[in-house]
Amino acid sequence: MKLLVVFLVVLFGVWLWRQGRLADRADTKPPTPRKPPALPNEMVRCAVCGLHLPATEAVSNGRVSFCSVEHQRQAE
Ligand SMILES: [Zn+2]
Repeated sequence: MKLLVVFLVVLFGVWLWRQGRLADRADTKPPTPRKPPALPNEMVRCAVCGLHLPATEAVSNGRVSFCSVEHQRQAE
């Protein structure tokens, strides 16, 4: 009879443990996919002075990039 009580207590403990785990699982949100780190701006090199600058700020004539309109004029 004592064994039966111990068995029931263990069973109850396991049940409690499983309930807790299920609750934990419900609480934890699914891992949100991490956004890939924003790519840094592509850097281009001025063909005249060699300055590196973001492509979005560069002056380009299609093939070559320049840091400013002045350097673009110099190259022409
Ligand atoms: Zn330049």
